[in-house]
Amino acid sequence: MKIRNLLTGASMLLAASWGSLVQASASDEVYRLPQTIQPTLQTIDLTVDPDSPDYQGETTISLDIQQPTDKVGFYKKELTILSAELVSEAGTIPLSIEEASNEIFWAKSSQTIAAGKYQFTLRFEGKINTSSDGMYLSNHNGRNYIFTQFEDMDARRAFPSFDEPSFKIPYELTITAPQKHTVVANTPVETTEQHDGWQTVHFMRTKPMPSYIIAYAVGELDSIEINNLSVPGRIYAPKGEAVKTSFIAKHTAEILQNLEAYFGMPYPYRKLDLIAVPNFTFGAMENAGLVTFRSELLILDEQPNLNERAAPLMVVAHELAHMWYGDLVTMAWWDDLWLNEAFASWMASRVMTNLYPELGYQNNLNQEGAFGQDANPLVRPIKKTVKTSADVMDGMGLNYSKGEAVLLMIEAMIGEQAFQKGVQAYMRKHAWQNTVADDLWNALAANTDIDLPALMKTFLTQPGYPLVNITADGNVTQSRFKLAGAEVTEQLWHLPLRLKFKKAGKVQRLDVLMTEKSVQIDAIKGADWVYADADAVGYYRWNIPANQLSALLADVDQLNERERKSLIYGSKALMDAEQRQLDQHLQVISAMATDNSPEVVRAAFNIIARFEYLVNKANKQAFANYIESIAMPSFDQLGFQVRSSDDRDTIKLRGTVLRLLAMYSKNPAFIATATTLAEKFLTDPTSVNVDLASVALATRALNAEKPAEIFKEYQAAYIAQTDARLRDAIASGMVFEDEKIINQVFDMSLNPAVSPANAMRFVWMGMAKLEDRDLMYKWMNANFDALSARIPAAYLGQLPQFIGSSCSEHNQQLANAFFKPLVEKVPAMQRSLDVMNESTSQCIKVKQQNQPAFNKYLQSL
Ligand SMILES: [Zn+2]
Repeated sequence: MKIRNLLTGASMLLAASWGSLVQASASDEVYRLPQTIQPTLQTIDLTVDPDSPDYQGETTISLDIQQPTDKVGFYKKELTILSAELVSEAGTIPLSIEEASNEIFWAKSSQTIAAGKYQFTLRFEGKINTSSDGMYLSNHNGRNYIFTQFEDMDARRAFPSFDEPSFKIPYELTITAPQKHTVVANTPVETTEQHDGWQTVHFMRTKPMPSYIIAYAVGELDSIEINNLSVPGRIYAPKGEAVKTSFIAKHTAEILQNLEAYFGMPYPYRKLDLIAVPNFTFGAMENAGLVTFRSELLILDEQPNLNERAAPLMVVAHELAHMWYGDLVTMAWWDDLWLNEAFASWMASRVMTNLYPELGYQNNLNQEGAFGQDANPLVRPIKKTVKTSADVMDGMGLNYSKGEAVLLMIEAMIGEQAFQKGVQAYMRKHAWQNTVADDLWNALAANTDIDLPALMKTFLTQPGYPLVNITADGNVTQSRFKLAGAEVTEQLWHLPLRLKFKKAGKVQRLDVLMTEKSVQIDAIKGADWVYADADAVGYYRWNIPANQLSALLADVDQLNERERKSLIYGSKALMDAEQRQLDQHLQVISAMATDNSPEVVRAAFNIIARFEYLVNKANKQAFANYIESIAMPSFDQLGFQVRSSDDRDTIKLRGTVLRLLAMYSKNPAFIATATTLAEKFLTDPTSVNVDLASVALATRALNAEKPAEIFKEYQAAYIAQTDARLRDAIASGMVFEDEKIINQVFDMSLNPAVSPANAMRFVWMGMAKLEDRDLMYKWMNANFDALSARIPAAYLGQLPQFIGSSCSEHNQQLANAFFKPLVEKVPAMQRSLDVMNESTSQCIKVKQQNQPAFNKYLQSL
């Protein structure tokens, strides 16, 4: 699953979710089904109509009951069971249903059920929900569709099931629906029967798979063929839109072939369909044979520019990597979900680098996406105890970013070939089965002398990451990285250090596996400089003496692009950790801001943008002047239009420069250009690149004489637009400072024309220019019930982090006043509130430390 759009909402019956969360904290709780009853096959019959909220179903699960018992456990949520029975050769046993905990129910018998083989049949009915999880309704362009999203624990919302990843069994799905609809699922259609305006579609039996990757869709769908695949494949989209998926259709086969070559194994399923879902909470979902995507990832221009094509191709690579890693080989339980996501993310970066080097993925520093969150003293390790969906969601983003970074570090240490050999052996050994993380380390360790399981344990079962400190005489120590004033438990890592250093006029390399707190490395004693993470593939920060830093900056052409970028990000982190002075940090920024690589310059601008937490009413104008002085020369050079000669790095840099200027600049020439472009976009949305349109719209909104009229215009354009990418651009342009209009932006999140998956978007847009958030919490207090009815249950618990994080005591007080009463009703919210409070307090401490030097610097300009 791709988490990218996690926060953009969907709806859910709030009462029901609160009920289940309360259940989860009961002291006699069960959260896994017993292993003594094994399912071996499940048939599912559903009768659904996208135009009707109710549906009916019947399911039969073949069971191997290994010990005498009086009850059979299963999962269900928001379903009514009409009948339950257990059938064997000996006869039929009637069952009554009783609730346990964590959505587990017992089907109980008044007599003992002997060990043996049984057919467990349940008839049930339910309501198709309007959220974007479980089996849900999506209204798009006046038509109703049914889609599914079952990861992590929502298959149980559509039908009773043994909804745990370790129960990997074949499924036989039958769907009865009105004849006018197209019905697709994980496998090809076996037979279709027509009767009285309805059709009954039987799908082929699936390969063994976990319930969370079951998928189906019902609606007026169009499709186009994907050519050159090793199996049949199509891209489905809402009526009339499949024709716009041709770019992805053209590139899917090469991505799949690249993966087949890496794994040394053909694609494991009978068909490969992709489907564009107009109301989808995540980025995409790896359902075996029917991968679901947010529609804007598949519906594209015929020839999207280098930047527009990057994310769609990368997400396709990520989901297809899951066909092996996640689907063919599945984690035994959710505590190893990180491994699924880490591997798919790592693999996708690899595919992108192999197939599309022009998109620049080889220079992405994915660890930077993890370091911030992983510095919080309350953060949990990525391998952690998981009982509920809320546990899965806690720190979810780290599963991807930290997981991928750790895998990249291991690959760099043991070598690409040894890594690939290990992965191939692992796939062959565990195909169609479940694994735990140790199975992968054992497979990889077969090709190296390093004690990989011990090394991995230090990164996976411990939170945080090391800070490596290097002295002039070659002493190297490790400690846990922490922000200014934070208290953390000390830890030790097995740390694969990759040293690059200059000594006696020569740049040299040395790899050291550091397992102790401190080590003396004579080779770097007296070095001019040490760069302690060659190629920037390590999951750690590092620091060197000030004179080495100056020497390194003078020698910066000895570093590759990854290393130069990493130097900038690392510098900011060291400053926040009270390990580097602001003037030293600024020295790094100015050395990099004139780099000849657009990616390095972009990193420098990104870091400048991160001074935002130090900007307040008093220094705002001085900061805006500073931004203008460094960004306007780039703007003059890059302009406001994508040029056909631009490489992707240049397009990305332009976007960063423009966004910086849009938020701060009052330069008349800049505002005039942006306004003209925004007006051109509103007249003809196809005439302006969508990324730049959002910046132009925002600049126009922020500088408008009559912002109320501008908002009305944007709102009307948003509602009239059906293309998800263009809607996105318009939403991004809704940046206003007027309080009355900000309230109207907040209100958009409840507008029926906004899909539930995009609801939260408008809360964030409204907050964009709010320094004090009184207005937002006032709106929240008035509208929380309505808003929470549009948000998936699992995200409700995460709300304190989603909207509460800030760097101000005032906002922190507002957040606590708002969330504390809610925590009693939503216990899962407590953890998120704690994490939010910790990160906010940290930010405030770092701010107190850096504010005086920052103000002084701005005054000196
Ligand atoms: Zn994924």
